[in-house]
Amino acid sequence: MEGERASSRVRGSKCGEGMTDARAILHIDMDSFFCSVERALNPVLEDRPLMVGSTGTRGVIVAASYDVKAKGVQQGMPTGQAQRLAPGVTILPPRHKIYTQISAGIFKVLATFTDRVEPASIDESYLDITSEAHGFEGAQSFGESIKASIRDRFRLPCTIGIGPTRVIAKIVSAHSKPDGLRVILPGDARAFLHPLPVRKLGGIGPRTEEILSGVGIRTLGDLAQYTDEQLVTLLGKSGPYLGAASRGESADSVVAFADRGEAKSMSKETTLAYDTDDWPTIESVLLFLSEALASRMRKSKISGRTFVIKIRFDDFKTITRSKSLPRATNSEGAIFSLAADLFRANVGDRKIRLVGVGLHHLDEEEALPLELDLGLEEERPKEEETLAVVDRIRSRYGDDAVKKARLL
Ligand SMILES: [Mg+2]
Repeated sequence: MEGERASSRVRGSKCGEGMTDARAILHIDMDSFFCSVERALNPVLEDRPLMVGSTGTRGVIVAASYDVKAKGVQQGMPTGQAQRLAPGVTILPPRHKIYTQISAGIFKVLATFTDRVEPASIDESYLDITSEAHGFEGAQSFGESIKASIRDRFRLPCTIGIGPTRVIAKIVSAHSKPDGLRVILPGDARAFLHPLPVRKLGGIGPRTEEILSGVGIRTLGDLAQYTDEQLVTLLGKSGPYLGAASRGESADSVVAFADRGEAKSMSKETTLAYDTDDWPTIESVLLFLSEALASRMRKSKISGRTFVIKIRFDDFKTITRSKSLPRATNSEGAIFSLAADLFRANVGDRKIRLVGVGLHHLDEEEALPLELDLGLEEERPKEEETLAVVDRIRSRYGDDAVKKARLL
């Protein structure tokens, strides 16, 4: 009875208040993260052009400083090609363990600003700052203080975009790099979005772009004029989502780390920087997600037996697959190896756009309390565990595999 009344009150407030209250969503993206970390750790590199990557015959560049990018070097480019474009530039081998540790430190700093923080990749997060910044009133100074904290604490530059939707926040930050901060007010959302080419919208790849241009849709403004029905006909299920995003109406909310801990199931997923079938890349993302999930489970003092993976292919087709372990765990090593097995069994050579790893059907038997009260401080993956996982990748694919991670 009590529960019924409470839930109808929640429903009532959601429907009754209309769509007027805009959220203030902040997207933060570290600038050339791996390069910046190397520079922060070794000031001699401060003003030097820099690349991070492996140098073997099949080596690739995983990060480049902006002055090197200006010469045409891109992430994922074979190292030999990058060296021809930027001769003589220092190339450092990637140190993923350090990057992951600093990433966790940044997350901790962000969590002091609001508890609504959603990590999106090793160097990107979304924050819902609506209450803390009083809507958009304090958004600019909120962004400034986050930038200052991260610079003071880690000596690292980042770029922040703030807007009424995640989509806008992310596009704004991409447009404001490096070391930028820009706020798009709700009233300016359409003016900002509409002149942009459709490709700026995450989720529109070359194939979708081709379909759209076939009917004369080139900008987000063109796209915004189509009805949901027309977009379903044109693009299938993803059509209405893309239409709403182009009108600045996408309702994807920021899912706080803390909120998910109380959910019946826990999961962690990320959209890749680009669609890929490169297994070492996917495996390194799985490792990152497994670490994040395990860390969340430890924070909630639970372990689980059945885990689920989610795969979204480049055509938006999405599948989930699950598997049970003989014993409950919250170790990233165990979760990672189960997730990797499931992926290998289900992906084939298709390109993927999103991967997720989650704990499935958490029930009381599975929610085993842990004895240790692990604070955020101690929740870093244990060094041996991480190393064991890295070793496993290495033994399977050779030394370069781990270095080929292209998370950024
Ligand atoms: Mg970045």
